[in-house]
Amino acid sequence: IGQFLQPVKRIAQFVEQYQRGMAGFKRFYEIMNIKPDIFDKENAVEIENVSGKVEFKNVSFSYNDKTTVLKNINLTVMEGECIAVVGPSGAGKTTLCSLIPRFYDVDSGNIYVDGIDIKDIRIKSLRQNIGVVQQDVFLFAGTIRDNILYGRLDATEEEVIRAAKAANAHEFIMELEDGYDTYIGERGVKLSGGQKQRISIARMFLKNPPILILDEATSSLDNQSELIIQKSIEELSKGRTTFIIAHRLATIKNAKRIIVLTENGIEEEGTHRELMNKKGIYYELYKTQFE
Ligand code: ADP
Ligand code: MG
Repeated sequence: IGQFLQPVKRIAQFVEQYQRGMAGFKRFYEIMNIKPDIFDKENAVEIENVSGKVEFKNVSFSYNDKTTVLKNINLTVMEGECIAVVGPSGAGKTTLCSLIPRFYDVDSGNIYVDGIDIKDIRIKSLRQNIGVVQQDVFLFAGTIRDNILYGRLDATEEEVIRAAKAANAHEFIMELEDGYDTYIGERGVKLSGGQKQRISIARMFLKNPPILILDEATSSLDNQSELIIQKSIEELSKGRTTFIIAHRLATIKNAKRIIVLTENGIEEEGTHRELMNKKGIYYELYKTQFE
């Protein structure tokens, strides 16, 4: 049992360190921006069996009360629906998505998950239901197994392997000398950008959240990795409410619904074809950003 607990303990220690680091980081911003801390309301509730409907109602947000990043955002994303968010750099795409797990609180307006204001939900419970795959995949020094387990610490070996397979990561992991025991990080094996992304996708398969936020990497991968990751993400987003901050052509072309965010808010929405025909902001953006 002692041996079995070890990786869990290691990860837990790491998570604690990471959170302490985050707290330090946040405090810095709080001092700079003078924003109140994010905390649980006294009567905050746990949410269970979340179906994943997400609504923004008149949401405004600024980091420092001077420049408004998001102005009066209204957006409803149905359970299981996948939307692509596009817009110029600095428009607030990442900010918009980071409000859902309450990394920051709105200045005004409300965000609802399954009709419940997220401010009335316990933060831990809210975040358990949201998976975030960041632009810069965050892996820690440890084994590949530990890094996948981070998605859900009590997962079995079988579940870890199933998640890795779903993320198209199992094959490359098995090609490494120590397989799942391969040490990655500073003094371990260096993984490619695409491999790191697949580890983080495997993590999300394990976590299995009803709501998913994907911030696509801007740096391009080789064509083959890109295709594999595209497929893994497609598989991952099935049956989950998904926000993809899209930087890749294939993503926007496949998206059933594209939201165009600019400094003025959500300016256009539709499919790639609809928005191209409109010859508006998306059309211009597409020519400069994606073509
Ligand atoms: P996008 O993802 O569309 O490129 P962001 O949401 O990252 O845009 O940023 C929107 C605006 O908010 C930018 O002007 C950016 O400089 C600013 N911003 C982003 N993160 C922070 C932060 N932590 N503190 C202060 N300002 C920030
Ligand atoms: Mg961004």
